[in-house]
Amino acid sequence: MIHDHIVVGGGIVGLATAMTLLERNPGSSLALLEKEAGLGLHQTGHNSGVIHAGIYYTPGSLKAELCRVGAAATKEFCTKHGIPFEVCGKLIVATNELEVGRMNALYDRSVSNNVEVERIDAAELKRREPEISGLGALFVPSTGIVDYELVCQAMGRVIQQAGGVLEMDSPVTAIRESAAEVEVRSGERVWRTRRLIVCGGLQSDRLARMAGLPIEHQIVPFRGEYYRLPLSKNRIVSHLIYPVPDPELPFLGVHLTRMIDGGVTVGPNAVLGFAREGYRKGSITARDVVEYARFPGFWRTVVKNRRSAMTEMRNSLWKPGYLAECRKYCPSLELSDLLPEEAGIRAQAVTRDGTLVHDFLFGETDRMLHVYNAPSPAATSSIPIGRMIADKVARPIN
Ligand SMILES: Cc1cc2nc3c(=O)[nH]c(=O)nc-3n(C[C@H](O)[C@H](O)[C@H](O)COP(=O)(O)OP(=O)(O)OC[C@H]3O[C@@H](n4cnc5c(N)ncnc54)[C@H](O)[C@@H]3O)c2cc1C
Repeated sequence: MIHDHIVVGGGIVGLATAMTLLERNPGSSLALLEKEAGLGLHQTGHNSGVIHAGIYYTPGSLKAELCRVGAAATKEFCTKHGIPFEVCGKLIVATNELEVGRMNALYDRSVSNNVEVERIDAAELKRREPEISGLGALFVPSTGIVDYELVCQAMGRVIQQAGGVLEMDSPVTAIRESAAEVEVRSGERVWRTRRLIVCGGLQSDRLARMAGLPIEHQIVPFRGEYYRLPLSKNRIVSHLIYPVPDPELPFLGVHLTRMIDGGVTVGPNAVLGFAREGYRKGSITARDVVEYARFPGFWRTVVKNRRSAMTEMRNSLWKPGYLAECRKYCPSLELSDLLPEEAGIRAQAVTRDGTLVHDFLFGETDRMLHVYNAPSPAATSSIPIGRMIADKVARPIN
């Protein structure tokens, strides 16, 4: 049997893509191959659980548009499928004059991005969030929280109801494209398909090389380490509290995040990882380290970002340093409030010249589409990303 579509990767991007393909091609045959026993167990299941509003991104950019549309689509999907989510809003807090300047620039950007935003002063911030201190803040009312693993499970059910097959425990080990089809193997098992879409997250570069694509980048794992506050502090804030991001860095900074399970996490930082899928502190996978250490772009990015890399590494190893980041805006936090929580790991694509890729990156052949880079907020944006991929895949084959 030859499938119409095979999707590799049961993270939120692969699932949203498979869902759209079946919706647009009723009665077509689709299989989704996932190496794990469950859906959304890597980046998607280890993220902050935020439905972003889309204020940070360059106005008119694909990222801005996908986030704006994706936030609405995610809320609609959750409502339709009974997945709990909450639109709790977020405050981006400026704690010094430099950040006030950056905050004002962010306000203008939010307006250009058509995202509702309110500028509030220090007194109003104190009134809304008594435990939070700052010179002022931006309030973004439409930001929400959700458990993206639950979203993945619901997408999985939608796929099955539409006739798609979820092949779990199926690590793809070989991909071979010919003029007529693509053959995909997992050990001894073989599938054939007219079109292959690969959404492999942390393994995307390896899957591309496996398929013979000439790629110029390398995935470097960046750990996003979190702590969880004790139960007694679950009501410390009623919104999500973010620092004003440094526009030079691709990550948003350590934030206080209310989770949909009622808890509050602090994080994530962004520190070089020594294992692509090792979530515990100290995890090391020799193959993962050797691969990026041999890649010239890795050393170039280390040199370019050495100051922030050193600070992040120091704060990862030294809890008081991490705490100091949070105390800038939440001074009542104590060292004993930072309880262990599992880390997330970002699949960061790095190019040969040492650039950290902040945008989507795809690779295409006649019958294959590989998602090389699907950076944050790809969980929020997954539904329109799935539609965009389905548009690309619908093009006739030469
Ligand atoms: C710390 C952190 C915090 C974040 N916070 C947010 C947030 O709050 N909001 C937001 O919108 N975004 C957030 N993001 C970004 C978002 O989580 C990711 O962009 C998104 O989950 C990427 O989804 P994906 O499907 O591309 O990758 P993944 O979720 O990693 O899925 C890839 C899948 O491919 C499978 N796979 C890999 N290799 C193979 C193989 N050989 N065979 C078969 N299957 C394979 C994996 O097992 C995995 O299930 C965050 C990310 C991180 C790391």
